[in-house]
Amino acid sequence: MPSTIGFIGLGNMGGPMAINLVKAGHRVLGFDLSEAAVALLTDAGGEKAGSVADLAAQADVVVTMLPAGKHVRQIYQGEGGILDNARSGTLLIDSSTIDVDSARAVSSAAEEKGMLMVDAPVSGGVAGAAAGTLTFMVGGPDKAFQEAKAFLDIMGKTIVHAGGAGNGQAAKICNNMILGISMIAVSEAFVLAEKLGLDAQKLYDVSSTASGQCWSLTSYCPVPGPLPTSPANRDYQPGFAAAMMLKDLKLAQEAANSAGAATPLGAEASSLYALYCNSGGNETDFSGIVNFLRGAG
Ligand code: NAD
Repeated sequence: MPSTIGFIGLGNMGGPMAINLVKAGHRVLGFDLSEAAVALLTDAGGEKAGSVADLAAQADVVVTMLPAGKHVRQIYQGEGGILDNARSGTLLIDSSTIDVDSARAVSSAAEEKGMLMVDAPVSGGVAGAAAGTLTFMVGGPDKAFQEAKAFLDIMGKTIVHAGGAGNGQAAKICNNMILGISMIAVSEAFVLAEKLGLDAQKLYDVSSTASGQCWSLTSYCPVPGPLPTSPANRDYQPGFAAAMMLKDLKLAQEAANSAGAATPLGAEASSLYALYCNSGGNETDFSGIVNFLRGAG
């Protein structure tokens, strides 16, 4: 049965996600500070909401796709926000990538108002958002997950229930901390191989079938040649921008500090990506850090 879905944050990710909900036959009310972003939705058959409050009052389901925790807190808990205006029983899905503490705080405020909420950050990038093939990592109670899944299935391909509130965010930043660290490790190995006169293809042939094998090597090789599909072969155009990797590594450090976990390599990866981004790497693919390490060496 078609639902009325309010969608807030119609940017690079939220825009195509909202359009996929329209294509599936739902009534989608959109809200964004950017008129151009709203126009893309209305051109595709969605409707413009006058305000967050108006959207929340009408919606059976609200989806948010915003830049950071402060925006999510404001849109849910601020004056004229979702929690003051949505009906009790409304399903709330926050797909923004934000800090775990904000995700848990907003979720518990929603629960107090009798609303069901999940945090459901994604991986898969803009291409996955357009194709409806995103991976959703979902935190929240079983009932909220079951209800949200019907909508997440439209926007994504793999939907994983990671546990209670905030665990979607936790899964995302833990995974991306592995990714950031492993990309640096693989990049360092290629730079060392160059200095030692070991051909990149030879290192790839050995490590891709040996104990050094990992996703950063065999699905996203940071040097051109061995894996023709990796961003290294198209001058490090993203892909997954280094600025996004830095954002996720910072969130991982925030969470580690808050939870008292020792993550020394995560901290180092965060520092190295900050240096890379500050030296002009911001908009390049995150595998471009190999060039920074080559220079730094
Ligand atoms: P974006 O900047 O393109 O879109 C964010 C949108 O939110 C913008 O259109 C902006 O106008 C809107 N917005 C900001 N504050 C608002 C407010 N108060 N009220 C209404 N609208 C507001 O960003 P994006 O690339 O779409 O990313 C969104 C989220 O998805 C981020 O948390 C990001 O980390 C995450 N993410 C992005 C990617 C990616 O490849 N782009 C991949 C995975 C996860």
